Amino acid sequence: MRWVEQSAAGAEDGSLPGLALNEVAAMPGHLRTVRPPEFKGVVCHEVLAKSALNRVPGESSMPFDWTVNPYRGCSHACVYCFARGSHRYLDFDTGADFDSQIVVKVNVAEVLRRELAKPSWAREHVALGTNTDPYQRAEGRYRLMPGIIGALSDRRTPFSILTKGTLLRRDLPLLAEARERVDVSLAMSIAVGDHALQQSIEPGTPGTRARLETIAAATEAGFECSVFLMPILPHLTDSVLQLSRLLRDIRDAGARSVVYGPLHLRTHVKPWFFEWLERTHPELVPRYRGLYPGSASTVAKAYRQALAARLRPMLRDYGLERGARRTPPVERIRDALPVPGAPTLF
Ligand code: SF4
Repeated sequence: MRWVEQSAAGAEDGSLPGLALNEVAAMPGHLRTVRPPEFKGVVCHEVLAKSALNRVPGESSMPFDWTVNPYRGCSHACVYCFARGSHRYLDFDTGADFDSQIVVKVNVAEVLRRELAKPSWAREHVALGTNTDPYQRAEGRYRLMPGIIGALSDRRTPFSILTKGTLLRRDLPLLAEARERVDVSLAMSIAVGDHALQQSIEPGTPGTRARLETIAAATEAGFECSVFLMPILPHLTDSVLQLSRLLRDIRDAGARSVVYGPLHLRTHVKPWFFEWLERTHPELVPRYRGLYPGSASTVAKAYRQALAARLRPMLRDYGLERGARRTPPVERIRDALPVPGAPTLF
């Protein structure tokens, strides 16, 4: 979806002093630009969107056809983020601008509600969190997700949410209500167990521990959470010990399954990622150049095969394969035992 397809007539330019005019002039539907004092260094461009539902291009390998993205840009600022290229459409750069110039579709829930009310809407699955994170920091201020969840559930439209944001917890009661009407799936993205590395490569995100606790809260609320263990970073997060510890923590948090994938470096991410690698792990640069030669965005085949050979048995051992029925950890069995004297259900 391009911004030129979303022009809203009558938008006013409310740019702040000090913000270059060309940053907002080409932004259709622009209402105003604010620098929320609670988010240091983040600029929010509030816009009126003309559409909310995005159709996934036919050639895409994604297992869904529709997405909703309330925000463009993402203050979670993951160095490896594959969505960086999408910021070019706004005349922003794919590096620091992607992390700090956040476009907020303030009317997304109303527009979505209108689109879902059309007789032609076939109630197909809608995926959230596939481009930028719907529970990034701005969501704490704008609270767009409750309106989106309400619109989807009122219109009997199944949906999924993928996030790194612990703000998901705020909406668990609403999501549990929605689940009474439609299928709702939740997934948390967790890929780095080491705290220092995690903060370095995902500087705007909640830490891994906080995300694990969010999985536990979602599990407690009756959801079967999955985890996206991606991207796995060659020579940084792929040792048996690192993967094993992380899978153990993921299992103990209550997640039901894990999907994994190695680092993918699209054209507009690659320079940004290598700049970070040179700064933080210069000794790994030659090895990464070997794994991602020239313009290659996918890691070398031999690495992919070795990673699969390493991880598949581990996922099996931890009961985290997709579709696996897992015996709960001992402590969950213990917690599930009836209290002496309490009425039993069977
Ligand atoms: S949370 Fe997701 S969308 Fe946001 S920067 Fe990280 S990878 Fe990109």
